[in-house]
Parts: sequence; structure tokens; C-alpha cells
Amino acid sequence: MKNNPPLSALHLETRLVRAAAEIGHKSAPLVPPIYQTATFEASDIEQQRIASKSDRFYTRYGNPTHTAAAKLLADLEGAESALLFSSGMAAITTAILTVVKKGDHIVCQRDIFGGTMKFLTEWLPKFGVETTFVETTHFEEYEKAIRPHTRLLYLESPTNPTLKIVDLERMVDVAKRHKVLTFIDSTLATPINLCPLEWGIDLVLHSATKYLSGHSDLMCGAAVGGQKLIEGIYKMQNELGGIMDPHAVWQLMRGVKTLALRVRQQNENALQIAQYLAQHPKVKQVYYPFLPQYPQYALAKKQMKGGGGLLSFELNTKGDDTKKVVEALRLFSIAPSLGGVESMVTIPTFTTHAMLSEEQRRAMGITEQLVRLAIGIEHISDLIADLEQAFEK
Ligand SMILES: *Cc1c(COP(=O)(O)O)cnc(C)c1O
Repeated sequence: MKNNPPLSALHLETRLVRAAAEIGHKSAPLVPPIYQTATFEASDIEQQRIASKSDRFYTRYGNPTHTAAAKLLADLEGAESALLFSSGMAAITTAILTVVKKGDHIVCQRDIFGGTMKFLTEWLPKFGVETTFVETTHFEEYEKAIRPHTRLLYLESPTNPTLKIVDLERMVDVAKRHKVLTFIDSTLATPINLCPLEWGIDLVLHSATKYLSGHSDLMCGAAVGGQKLIEGIYKMQNELGGIMDPHAVWQLMRGVKTLALRVRQQNENALQIAQYLAQHPKVKQVYYPFLPQYPQYALAKKQMKGGGGLLSFELNTKGDDTKKVVEALRLFSIAPSLGGVESMVTIPTFTTHAMLSEEQRRAMGITEQLVRLAIGIEHISDLIADLEQAFEK
């Protein structure tokens, strides 16, 4: 039998590929099997009693396929533990509900994923939990918003769609001094570009529908953090029930193996497109954290290893011209997602942020001229040529 080096001694790229195989035994399949089952048969009642505390009892409680993928994600973020969910929103809502009770208070940045914003403003108040929103990049405001019953500082970085960066070192310092938990939605950064736990964040949340799975073919969420916190969230998830189907978990594991390759290519493509757009006469403004002229460039460089695959820009146009440019694109699919291998385009006002009020959108800097590009892994020359022909039209 081969004696493998410990996973922790290997580089990220190697772990991404090897981690799933390590979970099995030798002479077993190289790729972990899909336990496509809702339940597990026990030999007797005593064995079932023991199994009820394991991942071989009933799939809402756990499943070996889920265990394998959760280990992979925990390793990626340098965490003790991880938990998978049926979607990013399932991860976000379950994690928040775990830590708050009636009378508690949350401090949150104003630029936040639309679904999270709705949950905090429309649903949590029904359970007596209030949220104060602060200007995302006015870092002194967060501490001022903290009250005696503040339980959670809820963050997202970079933000969607204007790519604002939150200063994690500063936020963790504020949270620690006030004994407040810190959660971050790190979907856009991915573990390749940012490891929030290294900065002292308590819990990392992902819409794994995006970069982690990477192929726009499944829905998945993840919560990654310390053992104790994850155990609490696990109990909540057990009742709320937002778990993944085993087959989708297996697809997620396949996607994760190429995460490093994909995200690096997306970083590179997005930076080149941002540079192309920044010098284009028809473009008014480009939002991309790794552009040297970006206002938060220094912070982005300090905190992140790459700028990510998402960027947005505003055209020098009025009325319907933005729609016309978007519709003239041939390679960019008009779709409201991101993180896949294929490039996508959307106008957030009409799609991803349509659920917000006009006032909320204005506060986030989202205009009808703002176009969001989710960059894939295609050849950069083809993507730029496509943008160029759309602008010419
Ligand atoms: C897509 C997304 C979510 C929601 O994830 P789903 O998998 O669609 O439920 C949350 N946060 C961010 C930043 C996202 O992009």
C-alpha cells in the first residue's frame, strides 16, 4: 500500500485534486462514490442508535458523500469544519438564524447580496431581530452602529456588482473588542483569492453555485468555520432541512478540483478586460479592485491574491443604449449568475437587483447604465473582440 504524504504538507493546487481521493481506502474507487440514498440500513437497533450520530443514518443528518465534500471545503478555507447546503441562501439564512434570538441586533454593510438584504429587512424583524445598515466602505460607521445587543457583524467582500472591498483586519478588530461574531459572504473572492479565516473572521459563507462548483450546473451553499459554530449550524440545518442532494454534492467535488486553474484564469481575463474597458471612450467608469486606479486598490492588494472574475462598468450612454450593447454581445450569455466557466452579462437593475427598491439601488450605486460581467475561462482575445463589436453597434 502506498504511503501518502499528509495533506497539510501539500500545496493548495495539490490538495484540491488529492483531498477527495484521500478519504477513501486503497483498492477503493479513486473518485469517492455517490451515496445516492435517503437512508441507511442498520444491522440491529443498537447499531442504528450509534449510526444516528454519524453520516450513515438518514441523509438530512449526513451522508458520506457530503462528509467528503465538506472536508474538502474546510481544508480549502483552512477551517476546522464545514457544512453544505442546498443553496447559498440556505447557508446564509440557516447560519444567521443559528446565532440570533429575539431582541438581538445585527450590523451589516449596505452593499449586500439582494436575497440577504431581503432576509435581514423583511423576515428577521418578524422574529424581533433588527439590522442596522452602514455605508460599506465607511469603516468607522460599523463600530458606531454596535449596540449592547449586537450579536453579529455581517459582511460581504468584494460586493456585487460594484466590487467594494471590506477591510477585514479592521472589522475583526471592532468585532473582537465588542465580542460580536463576524460572518462573511466570500462567494466572489473564492478561497483562491481570499482566506477570511486567516484574518480572524468567524464564519465564511459561500454560494457554491458560483465559483466552487464552477460549471453553472448545480445549486449549493457552504458554511465554513470553527467546529463549535458549525455544530450549532448543523443542528439548525437539521430542522430547517436545506441539505444538498448527494448527486449534486458529487458534482461539486468534481468542480472544486479545477478551482485554482479556473479562478486564476478568471482573475487574469477579468483584469485584462477591466484594463481594456478603462481606456475605452464609450466607458464612463470601471469597477474592478485590481485596477491600479480603483479607489480601494491598495486594500484589495493587501487582502486578496487576485481581483476575481466579476467586474462592472458604466457606459457613457442614456436610455436604452446600455440594453442594446448588452444584447449585441455574442459570447457573453445574458444570465444572472457568475462563477461559471462561461462568460455572462447582466444589467443588475433589471435582474439581480430588481428586487430592491429604487432607493436601495441608488445607495449601492446601481444605475440603469451599470453592466455586470462575470468573466469565464474563454480566450481573452475572443472576449475583447466581442465587447468591441458590441460597442461599435
Ligand atoms: C448567488 C449569491 C448568493 C446566493 O446563492 P444561491 O446559491 O443563489 O442561493 C449569495 N451571495 C452572493 C454573493 C451570491 O453571488
